[in-house]
Amino acid sequence: MIPYGRQNINQEDIDAVIEVLKSDFLTQGPVIPQFEKSVSDYVGVKYAFAVNSATSGLHIACMALGLKEGDIVWTSPISFVASANCAKYCGAEVDFVDIDPVTYNMSIERLQEKLIEADKKGTLPKIVIPVHLAGQSCDMESIKKLSQQYGFKIIEDASHAIGGSYKDKKVGSCEYSDITVFSFHPVKIITTGEGGMVCTNQQELASKLYRLRSHGITREPTEMTQAPDGPWYYQQLELGYNYRMTDIQAALGLSQMNRLDEFVSKRHDVFKKYSALLGSLKINLPSKIPDSVSSLHLYIIRVKTNEFGVSRKEVFERLRAGGILVNLHYIPIYRQPFYKKFGYNVSDFIESENYYKEAISLPMYPDLVDDQLAYIRETIIKPIGHQTIF
Ligand SMILES: *Cc1c(COP(=O)(O)O)cnc(C)c1O
Repeated sequence: MIPYGRQNINQEDIDAVIEVLKSDFLTQGPVIPQFEKSVSDYVGVKYAFAVNSATSGLHIACMALGLKEGDIVWTSPISFVASANCAKYCGAEVDFVDIDPVTYNMSIERLQEKLIEADKKGTLPKIVIPVHLAGQSCDMESIKKLSQQYGFKIIEDASHAIGGSYKDKKVGSCEYSDITVFSFHPVKIITTGEGGMVCTNQQELASKLYRLRSHGITREPTEMTQAPDGPWYYQQLELGYNYRMTDIQAALGLSQMNRLDEFVSKRHDVFKKYSALLGSLKINLPSKIPDSVSSLHLYIIRVKTNEFGVSRKEVFERLRAGGILVNLHYIPIYRQPFYKKFGYNVSDFIESENYYKEAISLPMYPDLVDDQLAYIRETIIKPIGHQTIF
């Protein structure tokens, strides 16, 4: 069996976790700030807060930016549902911007058109959430320019993209956004089992994010409404959540940070091997754009029946039958029953619909070996029935 994504855990990772298990603090201990510093130093951002998932991170990011009922959030339809759900948690409305046919990220042209229209109708978004699909950054400079013109905030959903960069800055630097969120789910670039990180350069957002992660509680006297009653004193200033990461997880994350660059570099090796193996087939391989270095979370191919001669569904079935657990990232969010009821018009999303008809995510992770890659190629080509058992 070859999964589409897989974590890489070595003895040092295991030892780091065991050390915490033997220590005084399993959670809210010293490893959390160490992990946070490791990420903030790496990406070049002032503040980073560990949370128990990227979903939690996206939720408190929306809250910190003041998102509430009646507000509107725009994101990409080709993303995991969490990119949109975070807005729903705050009671906001969600709309989608169609994707670019080359990068599969949010299209800047569609975004611009939609902003012009929304400006006329008085339906401008409060927040736009660009998603760096497969680890390749969106055109953040253009999105930032539009945000200044139309007055929206930006949360980067960088769940796929730790280790990637854009215009010589690491993704997460928040050079072109208010907040960036990473995921450390095991299929992502580095893992903490479940977990995420929220990054920002803005001090006011940082203190909000810090409080919202833990019930809205502060122990900082300058944030309190009165002088502390005593050394035990804390105040709950708003309604927050328990979105904290444990020190057990943070130890794994901190240890994984040591190997982040190695992971990304190995993913680039796999990418090159795929290009060599699949380049002659009449399928679309992923594109690399000049301004960014992708972390290569996913390797997405597109199979057009009229070019390849076999349908995407059949290729998908061949791969699954061969024990290759390919996937589809993603079903357009507006197609989900939960979202359908809000009344989206499929004809607004021509490129997302085309993508959904043709995309397959092939296995992509650092430990893929040549034999597995050759087997993947062979399986794409061979009709079911002629397959050797893997
Ligand atoms: C994985 C993922 C998330 C959610 O991450 P969790 O850490 O599992 O909550 C959000 N957005 C995108 C684009 C993702 O791929």
